[in-house]
Amino acid sequence: LPSKLPTVGTTIFTVMSKLAADTGALNLSQGFPNFNTDAKLLDLVEKAMRQGHNQYAPMPGVPVLREAIARKTSEVYGVNYHPDFEVTVTTGATEAIFAAITTVVRPGDEVLIFEPAYDSYVPAIDLNGGTPVYVTMTPPDYAPDWAQVREKITDRTRLIIVNTPQNPTGRVWTAGDLAQLADLVRDRDIYLVADEVYEHIVFDGRAYHSLMSNPTLQERTFICGSFGKTFHTTGWKIGYCLAPKELTAEFRKIHQFVTFSVMTPMQVALAEYLQEPEHYLSLSAFYQRKRDLFADILTASRFRFKLAEGTFFQTVSYADITDEPDYDLAIRLTHEIGVAAIPVSVFYHNLDDYRILRFCFAKDDEMLLRAGERLIKL
Ligand code: PMP
Ligand code: GLN
Repeated sequence: LPSKLPTVGTTIFTVMSKLAADTGALNLSQGFPNFNTDAKLLDLVEKAMRQGHNQYAPMPGVPVLREAIARKTSEVYGVNYHPDFEVTVTTGATEAIFAAITTVVRPGDEVLIFEPAYDSYVPAIDLNGGTPVYVTMTPPDYAPDWAQVREKITDRTRLIIVNTPQNPTGRVWTAGDLAQLADLVRDRDIYLVADEVYEHIVFDGRAYHSLMSNPTLQERTFICGSFGKTFHTTGWKIGYCLAPKELTAEFRKIHQFVTFSVMTPMQVALAEYLQEPEHYLSLSAFYQRKRDLFADILTASRFRFKLAEGTFFQTVSYADITDEPDYDLAIRLTHEIGVAAIPVSVFYHNLDDYRILRFCFAKDDEMLLRAGERLIKL
C-alpha cells in the first residue's frame, strides 16, 4: 500500500516512553503527570457511571459540559461562546486540532506553523493536501519573528497555527504578538487554530492572552483546549473546540465522522468539577513550584537554560557538555544515567544539529530530585 504519510514514523513520545520503561529510567520525556488526579474528580466519574451515564453522548458533547465550558470561558476570558452552537467536546485536543485543520485546509493551501512545533500539526496538514510553511523561532527567547511571518504569507495562506503556552519551548505569547498577528490576518482570508492546552500553566504572574481575547483573531479562530493537562487526566483524552457558529457548524461535520462523540461519564464528571474555579486557577502555582524545584537543582549543572514561562516543560541547552546530536544524547542518557528526555530537534522539520533537550517536570518531587541528582553529574 502506498503510504499517505511516507516520512512519518513512530512519534518520539512513544519511542522515549518505551525506552524509559524498558530501561527503568526516570521518564521526564513524554508530557504527562506521574501522580494521580484529584480523588474528588474520580468520585464524580464513579457517580456518573452508577447513575447510568454510560451510553453515547450527544455528538457535540454532553450539554452540561458544554455549558460549564462556556461559563468558565466567559469568567476567565470575558468572551461568550454559545454552548449549543460554538462549543464542541472532542477526543482530546488532538482531535480538535485535526478536525479544525481538516475543516479549513484544501489541496494547495499553505499553512503557517511556528517551529519548534508540536508533532500532530504537519501530518494533519499533509493528509488534507496542504503545504506546511515554517516560521522558525530560535532560542533562548523563541519569540515569533514578525518580519519572517510577513514574508511567508502569500495569497495561498489559508491557516496559521499558534500554540501558546508553547510546547516544547514554554514560551507564552504576549499581547504584542497577538496584535501583530491580528494586523497580518485582518484583511486576508486566513483562519487560525489556537492550541491552548496549557492555558492554565503560566508562571511568574505573567498575563495569559488567549487568541479569543483579540476580536479580530477570535472571529476566525478554532480554540483547541484539553482537560488532560489541566486536571492531570491525559489518559482520558477529553478536549474541546471553541469557534464562532459558522466555523463550528463545519467543524462538527468532521467531528461527527472522526469519532461521533466522546466518553459520557467523564463529561458529566468534568461538568461538575469545573464549577469550582480553584480546580484550574491553582494549577500555575502548583507547576511553578515544580519548575523552580527542578531548575534550582539544574543551576548546579552544566546545562544552560531560561526558565519556562508556561507549560510543564523546561528546555535546556547542553552545548557546554557535549557535541552529540540531541537525539543520540537523549538515547544515551536514558541508558547511561537513567533519565529520559525529548530531543527538541524533532519539533523542527529539518534540523539535526541542535543541542537542546526538553524535560517534563509534571512529576512528583522525589522523581525530580532523583533526576536532578543524576543530571548535575554530567
Ligand atoms: N497540543 C500540545 C501542544 C500538546 O502538548 C498536546 C499534548 N500533550 C496536545 C496538543 C494533545 O492534547 P490531548 O492529549 O488532549 O489530545
Ligand atoms: N503532548 C505530549 C508531549 O508533548 C505527548 C502526547 C503524545 O504522546 N501524543 O510530551
